Amino acid sequence: MQTDFSLLAELEHGLAELDDRQLRRRRRVVDSPQGPHVEVDGRPYLNFCGNDYLGLAADPRLKAAAVAAIDRYGVGSGASHLVCGHQSPHQALEDRFAAFVGRPAALLFSTGYMANLGVVTALVGRGDAVFADKLNHASLNDACQLSRADFERFGHNDLAALERRLAASTARRKLIAIDAVYSMDGDLAPVAELLALAERYDAWLYLDDAHGFGVLGEGRGSAAHAGIASPRLIYLATLGKAAGSAGALVAAEAAVIDWLLNKAGTAIYTTAAPAAIAAATLAALDAIEHEPWRRERLAQHVERLRAGLAGSRYRLAPSQTPIQPILLDDAGQALALSQALFERGLWVAAIRPPTVATARLRVTLSALHADAEIDRLVATLLELQ
Ligand SMILES: *Cc1c(COP(=O)(O)O)cnc(C)c1O
Repeated sequence: MQTDFSLLAELEHGLAELDDRQLRRRRRVVDSPQGPHVEVDGRPYLNFCGNDYLGLAADPRLKAAAVAAIDRYGVGSGASHLVCGHQSPHQALEDRFAAFVGRPAALLFSTGYMANLGVVTALVGRGDAVFADKLNHASLNDACQLSRADFERFGHNDLAALERRLAASTARRKLIAIDAVYSMDGDLAPVAELLALAERYDAWLYLDDAHGFGVLGEGRGSAAHAGIASPRLIYLATLGKAAGSAGALVAAEAAVIDWLLNKAGTAIYTTAAPAAIAAATLAALDAIEHEPWRRERLAQHVERLRAGLAGSRYRLAPSQTPIQPILLDDAGQALALSQALFERGLWVAAIRPPTVATARLRVTLSALHADAEIDRLVATLLELQ
């Protein structure tokens, strides 16, 4: 047997190099439900890095809905949606979501990542072009690459650059693919202007609203927030963030949804997620629709945090969403600050290259944070500056 296994040695060397550059990624094990308070190694932490913006991930009504669905449907779905895995909670969720966001039809995917891969590859291929903001989520970039369409990336929110590319394109089909709320910066895409460009150049507009759904537009998301509607708009909500469950829903014209059902590999060649997850998501939609106080609390927290850090050395990004990044000079500084906060019982993730160009602490807020907890984060940051 060969003892000097060079393929493995290459990986070990690569990991050591990541360590040297402060870029090695590691996980912490959480022993509690998700929410503003979590437990790690028997110690409590105030959590400022989840995406459970509305505080629904451990909501008793979501849990009860999941448990009741497990009692009725069991755990496994048994097959893909197109074979025999499509159960009544899945269908009820698609119908309810389509109605909630005001579109004719919707399709459920098991994750947002899979939805992006499926939608983009089903709509464009060789000879087509996809136009993408440079700060789009990694899953959307992977989707564009996988599609084999020309992948045209333009500068962040640079509408003039996008228009030049659209005007110059000879592609047969065009798709503009955009994060409606940028996941690491918290700013919004100019979706109304993007739709106008899609109309002018006869393109699809695909909005990945992973961070806007549940939060903006009275919970209906970024398109509702901007007041836009169009048959060429394809809308994605992911369900693992504000909805507190898991999966993703795409809403669009009926023909688009039927096309995806026939062509999107990540909807076809995968086992349906458990019906219990869909049942929990239905309960989440009730809370999103009927509990505006959660969004009001979030807006207050954003104001409180920004006011608290105003005039300090911390550079905040121009964000009005619950994503409030603090921009830092380098990965080492981000890690050190994150570690110092953790030692003081506050968990804020450091986000480093290659995920972002500028290292940062990505502070996220939850409707379930108390005012005093925002104050504690502010006070600790000020003490560490
Ligand atoms: C989280 C995220 C996704 C992926 O969704 P998952 O359901 O977690 O796979 C896609 N797009 C954006 C912008 C995201 O932030």
